[in-house]
Formats: sequence, structure tokens, C-alpha cells
Amino acid sequence: MEHLTPLPSRPTHVEIPLSMPDITDLEIEHVLRVLRSGRLSIGPVVEHFERMVARRAGRRHGVACCSGTAGLHMVMTALGIGPGDEVVTTPFSFIASSNCILYVGATPVFVDIEPRSLNMDPALVEGAITPRTKAILAVETFGNPAHMEAYRRIAARHEVPLIEDCCEGLGGGWGATPVGGFGRVGVFGFYPNKQITTGEGGMIVTDDDRLAAVCRSLRNQGRAINPTASTGAWLSHERLGYNFRLPEMNAALGVAQMERLDEIIAARQRVAARYIRLLGGHHDVILPTIDEDASMSWFVFVVRLSERYSGDERDRVIEGLRRHEIGASNYFPCIHLQPFYRERFGFREGMFPVAERVSQRTVALPFHNRLAEEEQEFVVHTLEHMIERESLHRG
Ligand SMILES: *Cc1c(COP(=O)(O)O)cnc(C)c1O
Repeated sequence: MEHLTPLPSRPTHVEIPLSMPDITDLEIEHVLRVLRSGRLSIGPVVEHFERMVARRAGRRHGVACCSGTAGLHMVMTALGIGPGDEVVTTPFSFIASSNCILYVGATPVFVDIEPRSLNMDPALVEGAITPRTKAILAVETFGNPAHMEAYRRIAARHEVPLIEDCCEGLGGGWGATPVGGFGRVGVFGFYPNKQITTGEGGMIVTDDDRLAAVCRSLRNQGRAINPTASTGAWLSHERLGYNFRLPEMNAALGVAQMERLDEIIAARQRVAARYIRLLGGHHDVILPTIDEDASMSWFVFVVRLSERYSGDERDRVIEGLRRHEIGASNYFPCIHLQPFYRERFGFREGMFPVAERVSQRTVALPFHNRLAEEEQEFVVHTLEHMIERESLHRG
């Protein structure tokens, strides 16, 4: 009779969260300075934050906005993508990377992923291009910049822009190219679970002067880009714009986080390396595969159960972790199988088999800068325990 290995006792009595922002006195001081200044929107701190992020991505322009999703929405509009147009993209991502295509009335054309990097399979991207394709929208899934150069070559060959949804990859790179530097345009996101946060926020980065100017106008009610002396810029609206501005307080938080970006990434790399060491060699756990040309800033730490395990078994492993107050999640369910997408487009199981197989077996583990080694050991032992329990159950 086989017995389950007993669980070690937990190192703390508090929950181990899935993610946590890293806020220090520096961030607090920067935000307070804005509050004391009396200038809370459309000011110098946003411009400073834009220069910092653009420089990090090796780009001429940064256009800050109120979320990554808003940034993607503006990019689709600014590129003139609309009804009847197709955008080639991944079904294995956070929903925003696909929703932005729907906002402008265009059609997402999903292609399956390549199982090592979990990014789109470049061969399938090439095959999905039609005369209606208006862009390729690529995501650095979980921060992995694999295949970006291949997508860039395919986009150039077909004369369509590459849009980089780099919301998960700030500070990473491939060879000498920083994340945010691959596409015609890239979009970062600063929700609290990302590498850096502004609370809510996003940033468009590009070398294209015109595209940046149109995005600035869209962000601020479509105000005129080149105002004439007679109309003035402020109350002349030359396109349908939005209020997608980033407040100065949020930008101040971003400036402080950017000042600490290298320290933040180093901490994430240490935590990731510990997980890799603790989990390496486990037969039923597939670790993230990182190419030697990639430098990772680590958005999340996602492992996969081997093919022996079903989606239900994976779900029970996650429930088991949560019962022990360990934050774990099923990053990500496939976009094409989301209720809204099934209904609107008639997508079904089996259409993107690699993405579906992967998404049924992923487990995102607690991951943040201050995760202690004892906490990681407890997470790993609990994960191993839950996996073992599933395989004993099955007999
Ligand atoms: C986080 C994220 C976004 C943007 O999210 P917001 O919450 O709108 O800032 C977009 N795409 C991907 C792939 C993301 O992970």
C-alpha cells in the first residue's frame, strides 16, 4: 500500500500570495511629491516616466496611458485597423491581447503555439496571412521573447506591422534587442502583478513619430496634433479620441519603480532560479524552457504537469494548493474557448490543440520579489504532494 508523503509544516501562518507589488519608501516619496505639487494630471512626471520606459525599450517615443488594454486599443485605431481586417495572434494569452482587435471591429485569426516557448509557432503565423491581414499581434507569453525576430521577418516580408503586446516582458530581451523593441510598436502594462506597477497603467513605445503623435491625440480626446494659430490645440478635436490619460500620481509610482527596475529584475531572477533548482528533475513537472539568447524579467512562474495528467487533475492540484493558502492559478485558459469568443465566432475544442493541451496543465505558482526560500520550499513540497495524491488516486 502506497502512502502519501506527509507535508512539511508551513514556514509562516500568512497566505502566500500569487503575486505582490514591490513598493518601498522611494515610491511613497515620489507619489507624495506629486500630491504636494498640486499638479495631478498632464504634467512633467508622465513625460519623465515616458522617457524612462522608452529608453529601456530602445525606442524614441513612449506614450503613457491608463492601462495596457487602453494602449493596445489606441494602437489598433492608430494603425487604421477596422472592420473586415484580420489580425494574426495567439489564443494562449490574457484576454486583452485579443479583445483589442474586437474593439475596432477587426477579426482575430488565432494560430497555435509552439510548445517550448508557448509563443505562436512562426510557421503557422506565416501560413495564416491572407490579403486581409493588417497586422501580426505577438505576445511575449509569461515574459518569454522567443520567436519575436521570426515574427518581425514575417511581418516585413508581408508588409504588415508587427504589434508587440509586451505587457508581460518589461526589462527582458533577446540577444541585443530589449523587449518592446521588436515591433513597429509595443505596449507595456503596469497592473500590480507585472514586473513594475503604476496601480493601473500602460505605455505605448515606438520609433514612428506619426504613430506616437496619433496615439497622444487619441489618449486625450482626439485633440489636434498640429494646431493652427486660429483654432489652438486644446479645443480642436480632429479624430474620435478617448480619455486614456495616466494621472501624475501613477506616473510617479512608475518613475520610482523604473529607478529600481534592475534591482526588481535581479530579485525575480533569483526567485525563478530557486524554483528551477527545487523543481528540476521532477518527472511530472515541466519547467519553463528559456532559450540561451533570451534574458527573462519573469512576469510569472508557470509550470506544467506532464501529459499523464488531465485538466481535472490539474484543477484539483490548484485547489489543493489554495486550500493550504498558496496562491496558484491556471494561467491561461485559451481565449478562443472563452464563453464570449465561442458564442461570437463558433470556436470549439480541438481547433488549437497545442494551446489547449498546455492550458489544461499549467500551474502558476506564487511569484514575487520577496518570496522567501522557505516559502518556495513549502510551495514546491505542497505541489509535489498534490501531484502525488492525484496519481495515487488514479491507481
Ligand atoms: C496585463 C496584460 C495586458 C494589459 O493589461 P491591463 O490590465 O489593461 O494593463 C495586455 N496583454 C497581456 C498579455 C497582459 O498580460
